[in-house]
Amino acid sequence: MGKKIKIEKKVLEENEKLAAAIRSKLKDKRILALNLVSSPGSGKTSLLEKTLGALKNKLNMGVIAGDVQTENDANRLIKAGGKIVRPLITGGACHLDARMVAQVLEEFELTNLDVLFIENVGNLVCPAGYDLGEDMKVVLISTTEGHDKPLKYPAMFRRSSVLVINKTDLLGLSDFDMDAVKKNAQGINPELKTFEISCRKEVGLDSWYNWLTGEVGRKKSVTR
Ligand code: MG
Ligand code: ZN
Repeated sequence: MGKKIKIEKKVLEENEKLAAAIRSKLKDKRILALNLVSSPGSGKTSLLEKTLGALKNKLNMGVIAGDVQTENDANRLIKAGGKIVRPLITGGACHLDARMVAQVLEEFELTNLDVLFIENVGNLVCPAGYDLGEDMKVVLISTTEGHDKPLKYPAMFRRSSVLVINKTDLLGLSDFDMDAVKKNAQGINPELKTFEISCRKEVGLDSWYNWLTGEVGRKKSVTR
């Protein structure tokens, strides 16, 4: 084994341990955790803005807003009504890891929280390899991207449980092929639960809200 591969293996093993600790902490408190991943600009923050606004009287939601350099997304989410929003600036790193999340969670008010969203850095490559202790990864793709993205980044689509296809209001303005993207994604991961939405025009969001509320209920009913 090469030296570089050895070091990478050690980093990932360390990450697995920290992620397992986060997972058990959240399980104890019965908090559903979702890790949102996508390319930059697919709409992770927009989906969270809509969700925080729409479900604020129904669910207690916390957000860890990952970003390479700014707190812009965190500020947008606070503006949208997010009560528990913490920025996580990676300072250049292109993914979040379990150590960063564990640190933020130390000062996070977890009591009474129903769901924790972790907005990852916009990148479909390495966030696939870093478990953050989440219940599920939610991968977003927008209609302004190529419908071959699942084929280009198979690990991410394999490890995700949910696919959200955003910006459906722009369908027809590009060569994006909805059937092709779904076929490509399902070919890699037949279990992917798929939502077609437009955050901008608020289309398709109700099924996302219903699904989310259902998953929160399911997490709460799991026996310890
Ligand atoms: Mg964002
Ligand atoms: Zn990275």
